[in-house]
Amino acid sequence: MSGTNIAISVLVGGTCGVLLEELAEIAGAIEDAVRSANLSMDVKRGDPGSWPQELGCIDSPDTILSKATRAPSRQVCADALLALMCGNARQNCLEGVYLFLTIHDDLTCRKPAEGYYSFVFGSSGFPSSRKRFAVLSTWRFRDYTDDRLRFLRTMAQHEFGHMLGLVGREGDGAYAGKDKLYEGHCTNEGCAMKQVLSVCEVQQVAHESALLNGPFCDGCRQEISKRFGAFS
Ligand SMILES: [Zn+2]
Ligand SMILES: [Zn+2]
Repeated sequence: MSGTNIAISVLVGGTCGVLLEELAEIAGAIEDAVRSANLSMDVKRGDPGSWPQELGCIDSPDTILSKATRAPSRQVCADALLALMCGNARQNCLEGVYLFLTIHDDLTCRKPAEGYYSFVFGSSGFPSSRKRFAVLSTWRFRDYTDDRLRFLRTMAQHEFGHMLGLVGREGDGAYAGKDKLYEGHCTNEGCAMKQVLSVCEVQQVAHESALLNGPFCDGCRQEISKRFGAFS
């Protein structure tokens, strides 16, 4: 993947239920992550209900949400949203575009064997180095008036890290015996790539990362520069 030399735009959009200040915080958090990883990417934000203007050719965030399948619990399936974004991007030959969708609805995804997780904060997928997709839900933070934006910042940087290809390093057994969702995550204190499965864990990572310099630890930053060598 290193040697990619086309310009990449990260396009942040949200459904109508997402607040402008939330989208602004998410876009700002991703911009900070881009800067701290020494990447050259453009981050653009749409208003609630829309993608940034130049993306008029793909379904709006609300249309994508309305087409997504739901779990029996009525929670939205993250995989369905990612697949819909991927299909849209393929039809419209979008290259060098990372789509970051924010929704206010509660989110889940299928367990590997059967059934669904009780919820997930977000999810991401990358069918190719030039087209990547992430979804983040604001739902679980809705009652945290004072900390909501801070928590969204941490989670936006986490999902963006996955978009950059951070999926954990071999030989790191720190999550051995834990739920499968912990796999593919960093264990370093303060790193946005630590796995978080509860608001408490988000709070912990948000707190730790505020004390450190930038969202990603040195190991994760090195991983990013290996993948995006052309940019660093
Ligand atoms: Zn993750
Ligand atoms: Zn890390």
